[in-house]
Amino acid sequence: MGSLGAGTAIQASYFVAAALFILGLKRMSSPVTARSGIVWAGVGMVVATLITFLTPGMGNYGLMTAAIAVGGIAAWVTGRRVAMTDMPQMIALYNGMGGGAAGAIAAVELLAGEVHGFTVLTLGVLGGLIGAVSFTGSLIAFAKLQGLVKRSFRFRGQNVVNLLILAGAAVAGAVIVVQSGGTQGHVVLLFALALLLGITMTLPIGGADMPVVISLYNALTGLAVAFEGFVLNNAAMIIAGTVVGSAGTLLTQLMAKAMNRSLANVLFSGFGETAAGGAAGPAGTLKAIETPDAAVMMGFSEKVIIVPGYGMAVAQAQHKVWELVQALTARGVAVKFAIHPVAGRMPGHMNVLLAEAGVPYDLIYDEAEINSEFETADVALIIGANDVVNPVARTDKSSPIYGMPILNADKAKNVIVIKRGQGAGFSGIENALFYLDHTRMLYGDGQAKAAELVQAVKAL
Ligand code: NAP
Repeated sequence: MGSLGAGTAIQASYFVAAALFILGLKRMSSPVTARSGIVWAGVGMVVATLITFLTPGMGNYGLMTAAIAVGGIAAWVTGRRVAMTDMPQMIALYNGMGGGAAGAIAAVELLAGEVHGFTVLTLGVLGGLIGAVSFTGSLIAFAKLQGLVKRSFRFRGQNVVNLLILAGAAVAGAVIVVQSGGTQGHVVLLFALALLLGITMTLPIGGADMPVVISLYNALTGLAVAFEGFVLNNAAMIIAGTVVGSAGTLLTQLMAKAMNRSLANVLFSGFGETAAGGAAGPAGTLKAIETPDAAVMMGFSEKVIIVPGYGMAVAQAQHKVWELVQALTARGVAVKFAIHPVAGRMPGHMNVLLAEAGVPYDLIYDEAEINSEFETADVALIIGANDVVNPVARTDKSSPIYGMPILNADKAKNVIVIKRGQGAGFSGIENALFYLDHTRMLYGDGQAKAAELVQAVKAL
């Protein structure tokens, strides 16, 4: 193939890859087509990767193949093994690699003096800065969620220090642009400060906010990749980066809104740290219930609304919960699921688990759709959810979750809560719902209790 032919083939393949990314993303917007969407986007990535080999002057094919093999095998093995509950930190890690790759491209090109022209230089420097921040920031996010870094490091004037580091990186970047490439010293300084900034920005942020931060870094990685696409004149990178950047931005906004937080508040307030302090406990007592009584309560109900949360994911109880729904439905009970937008540890966490168990989508309602229905429900069954049903979010202005929209489970005629003990939710605060007169605690592991309930309902 001549170089003109190869050039056209490469551009055409990038177009196909980009179309696959966009169509894949579109398919991910519905649970029915989401799995195939991931496959489509994956095929797009394979096309974009393979076509790179045709690019003239790519250099060392052996090294390229080795790098792809190492990355591909590591991702395949870890992706297959990761538990659903560990998914956020895995996303953080992979996302960090994307940011690091974009940063590395910028560093190599800038050090080699290969980036020319004011606009492309600006984009290259910005992409490098953002990519490097996203790289170390995502690694810290991973380490925190994995429990490798247990505390958040906060000190007075922290935001000022971060601002100074950012200003230093910005000055180094500006010199590189103005001096048409700058010196190698400027480039090294830019990247050293950017890598440092990712660390110092993320260390003070509490665990409760980490998923939002990961989503933000995901958006930044996309942006960095798109910017470096201009440096390499690579259409696939520009399009894929833009798609990731905008999807990540929307997701970040959605999560922050569902938690009633502003992005600035997430980044600069240290929410997860102060949350555990808490005020005096709620009024009332915790009242336990045994499985047979809970089964009678639900089995003779007209309407039951199930609220799953992070604990259902930990217990992997979704299959048993679906069996319970079937047993109740067979008795003529109307059962619906109420899903809070930030139930679990990532957006769509509960939907994915319920879909895996085979729960039909028409039984699943989001907060806005179902919240007014709790008043007509005989039982709200809470399984492993905590913060997303905590009424203090409505009433207690001093609470760290005040203002967060919650599911109105407390408005149901009866509330049954399955959880193992007195464990707090992610925000670390007590839940007033558990102490209400019409609430009963069914203590135990989510899966074990759901299985017992299935038997007990069937035996009624
Ligand atoms: P949660 O508030 O974290 O509470 C989970 C509850 O599950 C705990 O109280 C725990 O109590 C119980 N549990 C744990 N393991 C269990 C098991 N094996 N069986 C039964 N129960 C078990 O969960 P949530 O109501 O789903 O709320 C999610 C939280 O994460 C919110 O604060 C949200 O803001 C935050 N968050 C979510 C996202 C997202 O995208 N989804 C993003 C950022 C932050 P025991 O220990 O007593 O069992």
